[in-house]
Amino acid sequence: MIVILEPNVTETQIQNVVDRIQAVGLSAHLSRGTYRTIVGIIGDEEKIQFEPLLALPGVSEVIPVLPPYKLASREAHPRGSIVEVAGVKIGGDHLALIAGPCAVENEDQMHRIAQAVKQAGAHILRGGAFKPRTSPYAFQGLEEEGLKILRAAGDAQHMPVVTEVTDPRCVGLVDEYADMLQVGARNMQNFVLLKEVGKVQKPVLLKRGMSATVTDLLMSAEYILSQGNSRVVLCERGVRGFDTKIARNLFDVATVAAVKQLSHLPIIVDPSHATGQPALVPHCALAGVAAGADGVHIEVHDRPEEAKSDGAQALLPLQFAALVTQIRQLAELFGKTLTPTEESNRATTPDCR
Ligand code: PEP
Ligand code: MN
Repeated sequence: MIVILEPNVTETQIQNVVDRIQAVGLSAHLSRGTYRTIVGIIGDEEKIQFEPLLALPGVSEVIPVLPPYKLASREAHPRGSIVEVAGVKIGGDHLALIAGPCAVENEDQMHRIAQAVKQAGAHILRGGAFKPRTSPYAFQGLEEEGLKILRAAGDAQHMPVVTEVTDPRCVGLVDEYADMLQVGARNMQNFVLLKEVGKVQKPVLLKRGMSATVTDLLMSAEYILSQGNSRVVLCERGVRGFDTKIARNLFDVATVAAVKQLSHLPIIVDPSHATGQPALVPHCALAGVAAGADGVHIEVHDRPEEAKSDGAQALLPLQFAALVTQIRQLAELFGKTLTPTEESNRATTPDCR
């Protein structure tokens, strides 16, 4: 940490800063310039708090040298992490495809779509059983019934399943059925929830909050990691923009490349929530892969006009299948492997439209 002192700092104030640093067992290195004096703190940064130092008379700025997200940082783990979701690898050279409807609506819907996305080459099946909706009158999800349907559809297609958990009290329940727990954008800073999912053994898909900075996202990941769960996958799903006529959110593709530098955690992209427009989804999916994403998360529905949530942004199974072919080609260019599924080798056209 580096402490920059005010231009008119007194000798007593300088000594006070040095005393505070030494009192916690760290050393202070004074550097007196013509205009400013700075104090370098040598030793374990964790021993001293940033804010109390800033409150000392004569202190102008305190600059930490290490990022505040120690466990999530690239420095902590120079090689990128690979997170495994019931046998499906995300990270390193492995590009994973997560697909399915926004919400689990009924058994038939879930089975049809699971089969279609599996045939198209998806690795992990998604579907929300607990839906965080802006309106309390909108479809809230089938809850445990939805979890059972999702699990059965995943099992029928030999696919791991990911689903959102919105309430810390439901983490145990969701953990019983899902292979991966999703923390949605609206809950990215629900710290009680983050601590709860940090205590389970399953991997967590952590979506970026709609007005969260990259540091906020990595600090939320740190909450999960600090509880002992090291299997965190980040997800860029767009942030609030100003032109919602064009896209639901602003797809922040630079964040993908930035996170790869700052953190060892895998990061995937969700162009469905980022754009809200099926016509924009393939372009943004490919841009995400080109920026270094470790996976793509797409909402797919075979009857979007009947969907209970997010139907307007869903790709049809055939559109999804076409996108998977493009993702596969692009992935190869970047030295990544999109593990083929048995079904995608066999079939070229999904059963339903
Ligand atoms: C979802 O995945 O269906 C969802 C609600 O996503 P987000 O939290 O990114 O809005
Ligand atoms: Mn959705």
